[in-house]
Amino acid sequence: MSEGTSTAYEALVQFLYRAPIGLVQTSLAGDIAMINPMAAQLLMPLAVDGALFNLFDVLAPVAPQLRDLTRRPDEDGGMICDALHLAMPPAARGGAAPRTLALQLLRLDDATLMAALSDATAAVQHEQQRLSARVHAATRIDGLTTLPNRLALLEAIDGALERRAHDPGARWAVLLVNADRFERINVTRGPAAGDAVLQGMAGRLRAIAAGMAGALAARFGSDEFALLVRLDELGGSVADDDLAACEALARRLVEALGVPHVVGRVAPDGDDGAEAGVHASASVGVVRIGASHGHAMAVMQDAGLALREAKRLGGARHGVFTAELRARARQRGSLEADLRRALDDSQLFVVYQPIVSLADDTVAGMEALVRWRHPQLGIVPPDRFIGIAEETGLIVVLGEWVLRQACDRLAAWQRGLGPLAPRSMSVNLSRAQVLEPSIVGTVARALAASRLDAGALQLEVTESLAAQDAIVQQRLGDLKALGLTLALDDFGTGYSSLASLHLLPVDVVKIDRSFVSQSVTSAHHRVLIEAVVKVARSLGMTTVAEGVETAEQAGLLATLDCDKSQGYFYARPLPAEEATAWLRARADRTMRRAA
Ligand code: C2E
Ligand code: CA
Ligand code: CA
Repeated sequence: MSEGTSTAYEALVQFLYRAPIGLVQTSLAGDIAMINPMAAQLLMPLAVDGALFNLFDVLAPVAPQLRDLTRRPDEDGGMICDALHLAMPPAARGGAAPRTLALQLLRLDDATLMAALSDATAAVQHEQQRLSARVHAATRIDGLTTLPNRLALLEAIDGALERRAHDPGARWAVLLVNADRFERINVTRGPAAGDAVLQGMAGRLRAIAAGMAGALAARFGSDEFALLVRLDELGGSVADDDLAACEALARRLVEALGVPHVVGRVAPDGDDGAEAGVHASASVGVVRIGASHGHAMAVMQDAGLALREAKRLGGARHGVFTAELRARARQRGSLEADLRRALDDSQLFVVYQPIVSLADDTVAGMEALVRWRHPQLGIVPPDRFIGIAEETGLIVVLGEWVLRQACDRLAAWQRGLGPLAPRSMSVNLSRAQVLEPSIVGTVARALAASRLDAGALQLEVTESLAAQDAIVQQRLGDLKALGLTLALDDFGTGYSSLASLHLLPVDVVKIDRSFVSQSVTSAHHRVLIEAVVKVARSLGMTTVAEGVETAEQAGLLATLDCDKSQGYFYARPLPAEEATAWLRARADRTMRRAA
């Protein structure tokens, strides 16, 4: 018989010999009646002394249960076991031997079993890889928002750093996003609303990332998200383009995240059943990944500095990382440690700057301003350390100390100077102090300790603080209830406007120096000052012009109907004794002029 004309039986035998699958025919007891070459090859590593007589004996080390399985009543059309995976013992794995065998065992009739064997190494490995990929993915997804999580982001940044090392054309940036005053949403609207806002923010970020090739949106922390973007995919080709693209994107994020979130009905007593909008905003810190970044956390640290800058400027905006920010952060770190010591080592002192009544040129008050005599750096201005004190919580102790000093100082002037004493003392309050529930008691105790009339104390707060939520408004109301007055500091620099002045619980508006300094040269600023004075007066508030440096400015402000004036023109902030001398000298001059 020539090739190609074999009978069906011969073809089957040929198949048995050449098939890439192991086939073994045995008795019910496992004694091998037929075995094809592939089966022999697969089983050989298990065969003791190369003996392949009984299948169950050979497989006993890896499948001792087989003999028992064959004795069970047939329920499955003869199938005894289907694709049983047998892990080969390490000793049997040498050379090309499979790591895993797949075994199928079939009862053909009352006397015959047929086993099919195959190398399942690849299939099992594939399955293991699939499972580990799933575990990998599960540990890199944030449960609440289903965005990639912190770990996933850090890995992606490390990947970007690696790419960057080989391919200088690949340029990346990270935009770190943090919800502004998120704790307030949790406290006032409940944690469910907080979660809904975070999910909403995540959705918006995801949508923005989806529109950019190579971008990844991730949840980095509780109320913190991040966007990793491929700058060379955004179209720019030079560094300036990159920065502009980053800033445009940051602005887009701030805008998208500032749209109120609908979180469903949250007020149980609400009768209209309307869905509630929760106002939230976010700040963004931008950093372009560069040569100075050794690892992902270094990138995130720099993004954090940029973010902090955005928050420092009031939030709902973006900040861009610069080397200067890093230098400042280092400096701040060492200043922070020094500041803790400064409080104990009496390196702080208070200076006083007069506030003069424009109508009659009398001393209406003094503003207390803190100073720090640093053992190495000399006098450190408050702009350099008040921020640190706020961030570290030191402001509470520091602020109370300034308050005590100031109250004592005015009481001492009242005792020593009688009618020549300033009528009031102004003390600056920072945000962290107002948020502290103990502030009302602290102020009351300071007044009592110095036996000062509450009406002689004025507390100054910035407009961004005074315009804040109900808690702050309530706290300011409680302070006013003590009998003191509140002044709105730096008016004109924040984002509140004349139109919302009536909403703020203040008695005095302090017009910022930037307006005053341009009042003589700019008609625009003159008009603004005039408007502030008019609106304030209509609301029963008085006005103070800050930073008056020249006689010309003072004269102009008087004609603009401003009530009081403060600045270098009258005096710089002076240490207590010099301020006392200034008060005496001024009284003498007034008397001589009157005589
Ligand atoms: P501020 O409350 O607006 O204080 C006025 C600042 O303007 C003071 O700066 C003062 O020295 C300065 N100044 C006054 N007149 C003139 C002028 O004619 N020309 C110019 N160029 N500047 C003038 P200072 O003392 O450096 O204080 C800076 C800021 O630090 C204060 O701004 C205030 O916000 C904060 N600060 C100062 N002391 C305290 C404090 O005890 N507690 C808190 N929370 N903040 C304080
Ligand atoms: Ca002030
Ligand atoms: Ca001011």
